[in-house]
Amino acid sequence: MLDNPVSSLYMVGPTYAKRLEKLDIKTVGDLLYHLPFRYDNFSLVSKISDIQPGETVTIKATILEIKNQFTKYGKKITRAVVADETGSAKVIWFNQPFITNVLKKNSLVYLSGKVSPSGLVSPEYELIKDTPPIHTARLVPVYPETYGLSSKWLRSRIFPLLKPVPDFLPREIISKEKFFDLTNALKKAHFPSSLEESQRAIERLSFDELFLIQLSSRLRKLAWQKEKVGKVLIIDQEKILNFINSLPFELTSAQKKAIKEILADLEKETPANRLLEGDVGSGKTVVAAIACYATHINGLKSAFMAPTEILANQHFATLKTLLEPFSIKVGLQTASAKAKNFDVVVGTHALISEKFNINSLGLVVIDEQHRFGVEQRAILKNKGINPHLLSMTATPIPRTMALTLYGELDLSILDEMPVGRIPVKTWVVPNEKRENAYKWIETQVKDTPNQAFIICPFIESSESLTSVKAAKAEFEKLKNEIFPNLRLGLLHGKLKSKEKNEILTKFKNGDLDILVSTPVVEVGIDVPTATIMMIEGSERFGLAQLHQLRGRVGRGKTQSYCLLFTESESDSVINRLKVLEKNQIGSEIAEADLKNRGAGEIFGTKQHGKVSLKIANLSDKTLIQKSSLWANEIIQIDPALKNHPLLLGKIKTIQNQQLIEPN
Ligand code: ADP
Ligand code: MG
Repeated sequence: MLDNPVSSLYMVGPTYAKRLEKLDIKTVGDLLYHLPFRYDNFSLVSKISDIQPGETVTIKATILEIKNQFTKYGKKITRAVVADETGSAKVIWFNQPFITNVLKKNSLVYLSGKVSPSGLVSPEYELIKDTPPIHTARLVPVYPETYGLSSKWLRSRIFPLLKPVPDFLPREIISKEKFFDLTNALKKAHFPSSLEESQRAIERLSFDELFLIQLSSRLRKLAWQKEKVGKVLIIDQEKILNFINSLPFELTSAQKKAIKEILADLEKETPANRLLEGDVGSGKTVVAAIACYATHINGLKSAFMAPTEILANQHFATLKTLLEPFSIKVGLQTASAKAKNFDVVVGTHALISEKFNINSLGLVVIDEQHRFGVEQRAILKNKGINPHLLSMTATPIPRTMALTLYGELDLSILDEMPVGRIPVKTWVVPNEKRENAYKWIETQVKDTPNQAFIICPFIESSESLTSVKAAKAEFEKLKNEIFPNLRLGLLHGKLKSKEKNEILTKFKNGDLDILVSTPVVEVGIDVPTATIMMIEGSERFGLAQLHQLRGRVGRGKTQSYCLLFTESESDSVINRLKVLEKNQIGSEIAEADLKNRGAGEIFGTKQHGKVSLKIANLSDKTLIQKSSLWANEIIQIDPALKNHPLLLGKIKTIQNQQLIEPN
């Protein structure tokens, strides 16, 4: 029943189903798990003679009279007089004339709200029936809402769903942790009788979420560990050292450590599954190139997958420089290029598609993908191959978070920048300094090799036409009014990939001074002569995202700058942004974000799909620890979940969802 579409519910038609979808609610289960973010405390039920102006109260009263009036400005007002055995009170509502359809003379009602000197103003109301009240006279849940979907509507639809449900959590966990059972947890998360009760309910539901995700990734890891690679690699240390010594730079110790870990993976029979995490510019590509090299000297091929064609082109160029001196043929496979004869092939996700077959594939490198190898592993397995997988990300995922969400992966972190990289000078720029900042940018980029990015934020939760329009408008203004003497280009996600390529190539070749862009440039492009990153509306971004954007500059030998523009004058906003003035380390910045703003901020709204936690807080280390220990324990005693069929069903659902989750 929980899997049924919401539209199957009584009083939920297609219109409401559409609105619910805006809140990510598609099934009955989604609705049941749509939890309140706070409660209105209407639990104090008073006699009318006792109520005081300023108080928030509930009264239980009979309607003596009720009528609608129209003011001369066309506003609709509902006035009522209500009474209990101690006295009477006036009530007024604005613009809700339909109330008179519900509340009639002699109706017995609860009214909850704030008392003003003249009576009750716009109180919540509810007819008294045999069932307990849900909108008044208690802790009343307030939900995330959307246009045309009020908390009141949500309460009315959620309340009837709170029936006994089978509990998938092993009984020993419930009793040892003194958790509510699932039925109670859901009931009390929506309709608690005290805040303490709601906290316990949320704790149980958060635990579920963390536990399921950890159990699921551990089971996946167990399954993967049973797989065997087609051919076990032999690592020729001497050749690897030669390769490393031929590089024009000394590897950082973080790179050396990561390489050691990856090469150790490659020597095993079980296919590797590692996440290599490092800030932009920390040198992940060369680490991956060494893994490709090690694979090549064993006579196997490598595939290098990038999320976009632009990045594929860039990786292709980099890998060619690194690998061709060792007579390794690097190929490019994209919509516009076909790879023929190659040892290492670079491309987009089409690389592992049905149509593209690579014989003797030993290693797949995946750059900036969302489920970090889950989907790719499944596809490759369907093709009957089991290469090593190395995923890479520049998203600064804090270690605790990585271990929780991606427990099936081994983790290598490049927490050190190559020597000689100059920290990017960062300033928060208040509005009154905007003009000066523009002048300064002009002197920096005009007739010099230096270039600047100007980033306009997304306006909505993802890049929409409106956002693009805003970037376009800003571009016109900058081009015509602010920088008429400079060469400007515009980049946004709605451009065709060919157009994107053209603009980026122009920028890379130095034919543009300024690139105005939506945050699509966030991931990956490499322009060493870009020295200024200017970000509009920077308060709209998470710090981790800002840090990633900043990583687009400071890649060359010249001092680079990051200007964080904000129209906000709030101290807390400015102070949050100022963290970036002092800190250049991605993982530390991300940790701060995780505490302050939650996980969504680390990935940014666009990549939201990466984080599948809705209830639990990823900075809750105690609960993470607890759930992790229990996941281990359950796997120890019942790895096939034979004695926990409900739990097994739940895990299967999660794993299927992760496979079909859109990128
Ligand atoms: P990432 O992919 O992590 O953003 P890249 O691999 O693209 O970073 O490396 C950024 C730049 O730094 C490249 O030009 C690369 O050649 C260079 N580089 C990588 N490692 C080092 C190092 N240890 N010392 C100096 N430069 C390095
Ligand atoms: Mg890179």
